[in-house]
Amino acid sequence: MKIRIHRGGNEIGGNCVEVHADGASILLDLGEPLMGEVFGEAALPAVEGLTDGLNPNFLGIVISHPHLDHYGLVQFASPLVPKYIGQEADKLLRAASAFTPYGVTFDNVHHYRDRGSFEIGPFRITPYLADHSAFDSYSLLIEASGKRLFYSGDLRGHGWKSWAFKRLLSDPPRDIDALLLEGTTLSRDDRGPALTEAHLVEQIAAKIRETEGIVLAGFSGQNIDRLVTFYKATLKSGRIFIADCYIAHLLRSIGRATLPDPTSGAMRIFLPSRMKGQIVRNQLFDVVAPFRRSRIYPEELFSDKSKWVMTFRASMAGDFEGDGKLEGGRLIYSMWPGYLERGSPNLRDWCGQNGVAFDILHTSGHASRDDLARVVQALKPKTVLPIHTEAPERYGDFGVAVEFSANGQWHEVV
Ligand SMILES: [Zn+2]
Repeated sequence: MKIRIHRGGNEIGGNCVEVHADGASILLDLGEPLMGEVFGEAALPAVEGLTDGLNPNFLGIVISHPHLDHYGLVQFASPLVPKYIGQEADKLLRAASAFTPYGVTFDNVHHYRDRGSFEIGPFRITPYLADHSAFDSYSLLIEASGKRLFYSGDLRGHGWKSWAFKRLLSDPPRDIDALLLEGTTLSRDDRGPALTEAHLVEQIAAKIRETEGIVLAGFSGQNIDRLVTFYKATLKSGRIFIADCYIAHLLRSIGRATLPDPTSGAMRIFLPSRMKGQIVRNQLFDVVAPFRRSRIYPEELFSDKSKWVMTFRASMAGDFEGDGKLEGGRLIYSMWPGYLERGSPNLRDWCGQNGVAFDILHTSGHASRDDLARVVQALKPKTVLPIHTEAPERYGDFGVAVEFSANGQWHEVV
């Protein structure tokens, strides 16, 4: 077995690893780069058969999770190339594609499930459900030619699926020859344990209780873990949660019984004015119809502002400005703070201009340094290869042999 990291060995974003064995090859992830100057189709790695589907030895793409830097270039692959992804991850991306470019409908897609081994030519693949900020995320064990490679994907141990992380540590795959390990947090200076989603519930609930007006919840709609965190904090503080139609549509499309049901009346559904225009333009009336009974309109929303916690993003700013709608209000920003500077408007500035209290309450979607070390200790790989990191040199601290794989160079798994 040999592997080459097309992208991601020395950066966060654009994850793509080619695995080759017995004359055949597959890709693990095919992500959009987040940095550099080349994006989109021009950033595709040189893999024979990827764009025309005509190489019988190129057997497909296995997508670890629905984050753009792991699946973003798959749309440029030939429809003939098989794609493998978790069923709920696929549902989420299909549902999102009705609203945003951060969604996609794949052709020739095959679903895999937690611990359900499957074969692609000479490769035997076993998905390990992972705790991560993307929904339905997996690490992947790849066996071929007598070698065993474990690809972490993105993972953490402090989210709502921390049981999956604990299970990986207590029942790890054995005899791993090479571990491709993400190291997103290694370039950051905070060394302590990460704040758990459960603790975040307490922090957010405390801020809600301090607020007299409306509470706006700023988080990525596809971050279902964070949605659950806000939902729990809302209930804890005695308020009612309002989702916009986009998030309600994602929840309904996933349809998992353990997630809040947007049609049950337990939460209310708001249709922001810009989204209303989009729904009319794209004839998405079927998307809105299931929420008819749960809808909330501005008159009720602004008559008693102390009742609600509402999902919010910059495109909804116009729905809240003027007429004292934001009086006594608070925005709880719950994304990586670096996104603030890129948003339009910058939400911190917008809060300042509109007299809204502003707080950042957030925890990372990625494992802390200590949790990454626990993964290495549990799996005891012969070698570890850095991926999805800006600090590959820090992998030396894990106490096992590190192989640095320059982008595009083959590495023999021994
Ligand atoms: Zn991710």
